[in-house]
Amino acid sequence: MKANINNIREKISLACKNSNRDENEIFLLPVSKTVDVKKIEEAIDLGFNTFGENKVQEILKKYEYFEGKIKFHMIGHLQTNKVKSIIDKVELIHSLDRISLLDKLEAEAKNKGIVVNCLVEVNIGKEESKSGIFEEDVLDFVKEVSIRDNVFVNGLMTVAPYCENVEYTRVYFKKMKSLFDEISKLNLKNIDMKILSMGMSNDYTVAIEEGATLIRIGTSIFGKRDYGVVSK
Ligand SMILES: *Cc1c(COP(=O)(O)O)cnc(C)c1O
Repeated sequence: MKANINNIREKISLACKNSNRDENEIFLLPVSKTVDVKKIEEAIDLGFNTFGENKVQEILKKYEYFEGKIKFHMIGHLQTNKVKSIIDKVELIHSLDRISLLDKLEAEAKNKGIVVNCLVEVNIGKEESKSGIFEEDVLDFVKEVSIRDNVFVNGLMTVAPYCENVEYTRVYFKKMKSLFDEISKLNLKNIDMKILSMGMSNDYTVAIEEGATLIRIGTSIFGKRDYGVVSK
């Protein structure tokens, strides 16, 4: 794992050089979905304290196990009926993708007297298999957020279309960056564009070159996922 991480750090560094960016702007989020707690402990020993997960049940289990020692980001699709159970157990929700979820988050956050930090998920490739708001609807959506009180948007997130040749993903990351900059300029209440969450194991170098500030890496850190372990 240590060698994997060093390798990623080197690639981050190179991508930053290529694009005149400061490496310190890039937050590396290890994605620990399906990864057992022993491996997470190994990552903690290597200096990580925040992990990305995509299933509510798995977050709850790991949350209990680690007793507040680490933080979690919810990066997967979030059902409204599960909001209540994790709203105060995650540091950031990357997958705010619809009004019904916004309303539920607002209501539950209000109930608990907290503000919930989110990213708006964008379906930048308009893929049917993916969730996220279409590019042209994102401005209206963040305006909806800004007329509420207990949901705060810290940026945008996307899962780019998978391309055999990673260069083909570049156009999608560029679109995300311009959307991000456009929203920044609006100075809306409860919206502060600080985090641009894009780039995974296969495409993070391109994502960084195009402006990502947070990359979500699973396979390249922990190895191939074994989906069998989750149900055991
Ligand atoms: C699984 C997952 C990742 C990590 O993917 P890798 O290809 O393993 O790096 C990143 N983002 C989301 C939303 C995911 O579900």
